[in-house]
Amino acid sequence: MPCLSCNDLKVSFRIQKKSAYAVRGVSFSVGDRRTLGIVGESGCGKSVTAAAIMRLVPTPPGKIESGSIRFEEKELLAIPEKEMCGVRGRRISMVFQDPMTSLNPVFTCGYQTAEPLILHKGMDKRAAAELSMELFSEVGIAEPKRVFSSYPHNLSGGMRQRVMIAMALACSPRLLIADEPTTALDVTVQARLLELLKKLQDTKDMSMILITHNLGIVTGMAHDVIVMYAGEIVESAPAQALFESPRHPYTECLLKTIPSIERRGERLTVIPGTVPTPLEVPEGCPFHPRCPKAKDVCKKDHPPLHRVDGGGNGVNIDNDGDNGKHHVRCHLYE
Ligand code: SF4
Repeated sequence: MPCLSCNDLKVSFRIQKKSAYAVRGVSFSVGDRRTLGIVGESGCGKSVTAAAIMRLVPTPPGKIESGSIRFEEKELLAIPEKEMCGVRGRRISMVFQDPMTSLNPVFTCGYQTAEPLILHKGMDKRAAAELSMELFSEVGIAEPKRVFSSYPHNLSGGMRQRVMIAMALACSPRLLIADEPTTALDVTVQARLLELLKKLQDTKDMSMILITHNLGIVTGMAHDVIVMYAGEIVESAPAQALFESPRHPYTECLLKTIPSIERRGERLTVIPGTVPTPLEVPEGCPFHPRCPKAKDVCKKDHPPLHRVDGGGNGVNIDNDGDNGKHHVRCHLYE
């Protein structure tokens, strides 16, 4: 039984009096104590998928049109908002991209970390404060007392993100969603925080969804990876299979954009063009205007998902028991 399974999720936004789909039929599952990496450029629907899992899609203009999200025997899209409040922050937590805009500037870091402990676990203020400071130590904050009474603007970016992680872990969630957790940080702090997330996941028996635009970040972190483009999954596989033998031209392009010491002196690869907005998704394969391998059929026919070679377990793209196989949405594999 997976920790979370998402089936045929569709999310739309009302833009210019039209419904535009930001997520178009996404299906995946996250195994117990496994990390799923969701990768793609900005605007591919990764964060909207995460917001839908947390039921935080702003409505209006957003709307979860259809699909299913099952977590701990519950259908999250069907339970009342009051029940969802007991899941959010307690059983599923989220670390957001930019801690400066996610932390409340008018409350101390200690107040904000203790709040979920008081709300969800019924702790009194003193016990919540003590546990908050323990959590600060656990995430590598050297002066937990000082940080407890500091406001977010008193701290560096790396420290603020550690506070966010401590808040997310406060109620020992079963699933942690980390949405671009290190994008706003410099490279050395980034590496330390990723190491910390990995260690915490191992010690706390959590599952994790790691969302990033950088395939390099999921290397060594994720067990399974899905690659999204224009609101749909274009490739999914166990991480090793995806890195060793990427099949979709978009994944190949993403991998080539990772700077490498072996390619020192060469110009960095860029993917021409930009991700289409949900209002401008082209007919056929949405990637065809940018694809170096596009054929005539790609301009007309939308490719279905094909199963190609692969192994392992974890990602279940169709929720049909076809676990851990390598799937690609591309006419090249028909
Ligand atoms: Fe490229 Fe065609 Fe495959 Fe799309 S379907 S990724 S355009 S080859």
